[in-house]
Amino acid sequence: MKLAMIGFGQAGGKVVDKFLEYDKRTGSEIVRAAAAVNTAKADLMGLEHIAEDQRVLIGQSRVKGHGVGADNELGAEIAEEDIDEVQGAIDSIPVHEVDAFLVVAGLGGGTGSGGAPVLAKHLKRIYTEPVYGLGILPGSDEGGIYTLNAARSFQTFVREVDNLMVFDNDAWRKTGESVQGGYEEINEEIVRRFGILFGAGEIQQGQEVAESVVDSSEIINTLSGGGVSTVGYAEEEVEERSSGGLLSRLRDDGDDEELDSAHTTNRITSLVRKAALGRLTLPCEIEGAERALLVLAGPPEYLNRKGIERGRKWLEEQTGSMEVRGGDYPYRGAGFVATVILLAGVTNVPRIKELQQVAIEAQDNLDEIREESDENLDELVSDDSDELESLF
Ligand code: GDP
Repeated sequence: MKLAMIGFGQAGGKVVDKFLEYDKRTGSEIVRAAAAVNTAKADLMGLEHIAEDQRVLIGQSRVKGHGVGADNELGAEIAEEDIDEVQGAIDSIPVHEVDAFLVVAGLGGGTGSGGAPVLAKHLKRIYTEPVYGLGILPGSDEGGIYTLNAARSFQTFVREVDNLMVFDNDAWRKTGESVQGGYEEINEEIVRRFGILFGAGEIQQGQEVAESVVDSSEIINTLSGGGVSTVGYAEEEVEERSSGGLLSRLRDDGDDEELDSAHTTNRITSLVRKAALGRLTLPCEIEGAERALLVLAGPPEYLNRKGIERGRKWLEEQTGSMEVRGGDYPYRGAGFVATVILLAGVTNVPRIKELQQVAIEAQDNLDEIREESDENLDELVSDDSDELESLF
């Protein structure tokens, strides 16, 4: 599936940059166009793969290229005021060649948190292609203001996109790691999962056509209907036949064929379970998911119809959904078989409820502190018996 990706804010820009790198490395051709929008000049300069003329600095008259300092209301205002500048970058995208837009942002900060929902709303008004969001939730150790920003942005972003795919930094945080190093790994994880998912709908001419290849319309149909989505992933190393190793020669032995096929089927079904029950991009209860898409990626000799069918049925039972799609993504050279499961329309998400609770507390706290500090300042500045007069 071909996407026009727009990264809003620092996290958004970095993740889109990473998608471009993935695209170049794997030849998946999912990024038809890529742009980054920011109020901070330094963040745009730090990008490596997004073309310079596709990096848009907004809000120069208001914040002089220094960012909005985690003020997402200001982020939203600036995005609205300067939407024409963003549109200028989008104008150079051949929109008739893209299947959808993907707006990526970290929801805890200011620029992406405020700007991404504004951009999604704008895109939906102008284009007929679906507009998806990829929203990154902050770690719970980032503090009240980030949580409040994320909760407000999440609510708005979901409303403005055709589907909001969510990645929760909190679920992927590792202790004892530098923040920078941590993000590097987290961003790899994001790109791996979504890269395989979107790459599945983008089989190139000349590539091996598997028994049942996932089509981009299946991704679109799974995401249609709005709401929130999460993605599961599991992989297992395999030795590829084309490598010509001892194992592959043994496998060519006719007697092993049937055993192999049973083994392949079992491997697939256990990978499906691992992906669905393991760590999701947004941890949640999978029961009640409205729709799901199962993608099985790997060398064609390790993919089989029976495995996918079994995995699909199991997912139907687990989610209670009647709309579970599944298919292959023949993928050579990586040395693994992987399953990616897109669970769309999830509603039982304790993490979001917890985020909202902390956000409300932070909001109340902030109001209280503001009131108190107004009073305190008043007390400090004015003399006790009001004997002094201000100059003017
Ligand atoms: P903005 O530039 O004002 O939009 O804010 P940032 O994008 O810098 O930060 C917003 C939030 O995104 C932070 O609170 C972090 O939770 C998260 N974040 C920042 N950088 C990264 C990154 O490289 N990867 C990931 N996964 N999250 C990030």
